Amino acid sequence: MTGVIYKVAVPSPLRKSFDYTSTEAIADSCRVRVPFGNRKVVGVVLGAVEQSELPTGKLKPISEVIDRTPLIPANLFKLFIWAADYYQHPIGEALGAVFPARLRKGGDIPTAREPGWALSPHGKGLPADALKNAPRQQQLLNLLQTQGVVGRLQLEAAGLSSAIARELERKGLIEKTRVEPTTTAGSTAASEQSLPLYPQQQRAVAAITPETFGCYLLHGETGSGKTEVYLQAIRKLVEQRKQALLLVPEISLTPQTLDRFRRRFGNAIAALHSGLSDRERALAWEQARTGKASVVIGTRSAVFTPLARPGIIIVDEEHDGSFKQQDGYRYHARDLAVIRGQREGIPVVLGSATPSLESLHNCRQHRYRYLPLTGRAGSANHPEWQILDVKGMQLQQGLSEPLLQALDGTLEAGNQALVFLNRRGFAPTLTCQDCGWIANCHRCDARLTVHRNPNRLICHHCEHRPAFPSSCPFCHSARLAMLGQGTARTEAALQARFPKVPVLRIDRDSTRGKQAMSRMFEQVATGEPCILVGTQMLAKGHHFPEVTLVAIVDADAGLFSPDFRAAEKMSQLIVQVAGRAGRGSKPGRVILQSYHADHPFLQLLSQRGYTAISEQLLRERELAGLPPYAHMAVIRSESHQPADAEEFLRFARQTLEKLRKPQGNLNYLGPLPAPLEKRRGRYRYQLAITASERKTLNRLLFRLCQLLEGASISRKARWSVDVDPQDMS
Ligand code: ADP
Ligand code: ZN
Ligand code: ZN
Repeated sequence: MTGVIYKVAVPSPLRKSFDYTSTEAIADSCRVRVPFGNRKVVGVVLGAVEQSELPTGKLKPISEVIDRTPLIPANLFKLFIWAADYYQHPIGEALGAVFPARLRKGGDIPTAREPGWALSPHGKGLPADALKNAPRQQQLLNLLQTQGVVGRLQLEAAGLSSAIARELERKGLIEKTRVEPTTTAGSTAASEQSLPLYPQQQRAVAAITPETFGCYLLHGETGSGKTEVYLQAIRKLVEQRKQALLLVPEISLTPQTLDRFRRRFGNAIAALHSGLSDRERALAWEQARTGKASVVIGTRSAVFTPLARPGIIIVDEEHDGSFKQQDGYRYHARDLAVIRGQREGIPVVLGSATPSLESLHNCRQHRYRYLPLTGRAGSANHPEWQILDVKGMQLQQGLSEPLLQALDGTLEAGNQALVFLNRRGFAPTLTCQDCGWIANCHRCDARLTVHRNPNRLICHHCEHRPAFPSSCPFCHSARLAMLGQGTARTEAALQARFPKVPVLRIDRDSTRGKQAMSRMFEQVATGEPCILVGTQMLAKGHHFPEVTLVAIVDADAGLFSPDFRAAEKMSQLIVQVAGRAGRGSKPGRVILQSYHADHPFLQLLSQRGYTAISEQLLRERELAGLPPYAHMAVIRSESHQPADAEEFLRFARQTLEKLRKPQGNLNYLGPLPAPLEKRRGRYRYQLAITASERKTLNRLLFRLCQLLEGASISRKARWSVDVDPQDMS
């Protein structure tokens, strides 16, 4: 016998763990290095077992124990294992996702220490006024005598240069050391007081009960004061030495957001966002884990961050699609946050101006507590909504004359306007006017989008960039035309029509440089008349108080989509964009341009708002037996041969039908081609399964994955399971 047998999760697409031996006692969740195939990989210990399926002689020993003590609290680790199981994801990959990259690769926790100075033994013996002839040196000496060490920031804050420090070092009075950054943080203490809350905010903060699990849905439009509620709920807990975890969509994790939290909580904030280096990320993670950071703010994957003293979890913009990972490990950070809160026995607050149907449903079922915010007294300037019927109208670059006149009036009155169009680029289609040829991506079922300056074609699904044709490749005609509107074309059209005002385009193409975005926001902040044109980037994060007109150029997008969530997503987007208008003292106006002006959906949205739409959509979902009234999973397959992809899913469905007889409350849809049938050269199919019970579906999927993994047909197609899918494209 060579010691204890451990189950280890290794990074592998196989849905199983592997057994290794060790003579050391290793706690669950500790990282280890193990031989795997002909490599060494970093794995995570799941636990010790009595016996292995393999004969003991065949078991390999663990090469190295990386963590002597677990980095992850036991109950959180159990949740991580549960989540891998729930989302049917291989355990090794799922556990890899919970560590920052540096630790996942086996690296150590970086020390946060920074260069600093301390007194040398000789310096310690000096009297307090020893350097009175050199006042700056004397000042540093006294600083060190009172504080023990100083870091770079403290030196700066005291107005001392590092040359002074070097001078004292040369004299042998002080020496280099390393200091904790928290000891240098005094210069950025909290500087802002809580605002006096209005009654609904007060009620919301009071309702959030500490140290008990409860889920709260804070529903209030943009500007109604949700963030102020978060800040004060967090304050309550931080005062009791607890920590807060705040999850936000990537796009809202702006310097402005962080500044707002820093003004309240000083430097006790750790931010986990995509702009960090591996080292910085690991450091922020460690500050959360050890309890140094009182407030942890991060995007989707921050839901996995361990906290030493968990107090509250808040998910802002809880309806946002970015909380669900769309590839690989397809977890939903909002849903995991709720389960985490339950396991840690702490409150979870979900906030949104347009809550997801799931969360509204949970409120109706009394699982979540509904906390409405209808806005501060005095600032309730609700915009006026108008559906502009453009049927039969002559459009100029996609814009109708009444819309252009409304823009004109807004600018004339000295106000700003926002034009929303959810399609970037110049034009979505390049076509030949002689033979009707259309420029398609040869790898996807999609048209190539025309981009300009310089002219080029880009596929928005696979980033393919073929050369721009000088003539039709089919009939050689030179009469090529660009059809349809993208934000760049709308920008050009508006600039031509309103040459005297700045037209600022905000989309992924125009904001690539960090500077570009802030320059545009500075321009908007001057309050001078201007037109903002952009995609859904405009819907989040930023407020434009001087904007009094919001124009939605294509309100019909999403009305006729095959995705059952399309109507929900579109109304959320429209309401979020509209919510940017009239937040200042001036009343706002929202215009929806549509070819289907009498569509009941648009009518309901414009007349009665998001709550009415969500009630209608919930009724439809209930009738159709769709989430949140049923639990859903989608199995996707893709292959170079469409027949292979389809055959794989037919096999999956047959397997499911055999596994569960009678079918009872299970429903299948598919195999069907995905709405975007071909992408990156592969044909894509999907099979949707709905079940009335979550457990049934979960168990069935577990068995199915095991069987599929072993089946030879699995080699013909790439496949994946998506539990609680958000995007059906
Ligand atoms: P939301 O998060 O819902 O968009 P915020 O919390 O950002 O709303 O509030 C919008 C604006 O109103 C901010 O400028 C905020 O400082 C201010 N505000 C929020 N609550 C109050 C309050 N109780 N009294 C005064 N101003 C408030
Ligand atoms: Zn042609
Ligand atoms: Zn493509």
